[in-house]
Amino acid sequence: GENSTKPGALALTDIYIAVKTTQSFHRSRLQLLLDTWISRARKQTYIFTDGEDEALQERLGPHLVVTNCSAEHSHPALSCKMAAEFDAFLASGLSWFCHLDDDNYLNPEALLMLLSSFSPTWDVYVGKPSLNRPIMASEPMPNNQMRPVRFWFATGGAGFCINRKLARKMVPWASGPNFLSTSTKIRLPDDCTVGYIVECKLGRRLLPSPLFHSHLEDLRILGAAQLPNQVTLSYGVFEKKLNAIDLEGPFSPQEDPSRFRSLHCLLYPDTSWCPQQAAQ
Ligand code: UDP
Ligand code: MN
Repeated sequence: GENSTKPGALALTDIYIAVKTTQSFHRSRLQLLLDTWISRARKQTYIFTDGEDEALQERLGPHLVVTNCSAEHSHPALSCKMAAEFDAFLASGLSWFCHLDDDNYLNPEALLMLLSSFSPTWDVYVGKPSLNRPIMASEPMPNNQMRPVRFWFATGGAGFCINRKLARKMVPWASGPNFLSTSTKIRLPDDCTVGYIVECKLGRRLLPSPLFHSHLEDLRILGAAQLPNQVTLSYGVFEKKLNAIDLEGPFSPQEDPSRFRSLHCLLYPDTSWCPQQAAQ
């Protein structure tokens, strides 16, 4: 429980959780997250979107951040949201920044366990490497020269975390308008840009973790016994089929295609809408 932590130990209240969404997904994706894991981390979680939504604003108050970013799937629009998340984290004063997509399930307890394993003296960037090799890019140099660069990055669709110590060093490339200009310079998406800043500008390394998952990997291979230990999970299309974790119940795949409601009941059986077990 949160009152049993020793002084100096990391608590969930030290973590800033940013979820990226877009207006057209408020109903189809966000509602599911609000009903499930966000209900267990409400005070720590901020939703970054691109369009007003009165009902959502009413429900979330300052936890809904309506950015001026455009509602497109373009590199600049997505980098604009990442910049807004990063700046809001810096302003929060909290010690960890975690980014998620709106098709991620986050297990706050597994996250806390993972982040607690890092020494506060380290610079930490942790997540799921997007590729099994570093990505190559071209970095513009003075006099129209280009320099080839290679670096690892954490796939944004699996979620990743950065501690404040590292985030402060990222400021010259990542805060305010700098994030967009950095991503424009290397012509890569927002999550690649984070990796570029950490590895190429600061000489730090992505710490790979197998506990973050996107829907670009086969989620059915995770066994039911492993699910409670994963930091993030996801659902979505993979090889033209719905890719989701494999979980028996309590809800059917028709009622719960993402399996997030079933997972949530496995982790938090006392939830009001979970089928209640008969009293022993
Ligand atoms: N997204 C966005 N603007 C858009 C489309 C998507 O901010 O115009 C967000 C979406 O809410 C999600 C992330 O970008 O958090 C990834 O989108 P999606 O899962 O649809 O695509 P993927 O890249 O996973 O195929
Ligand atoms: Mn996705």
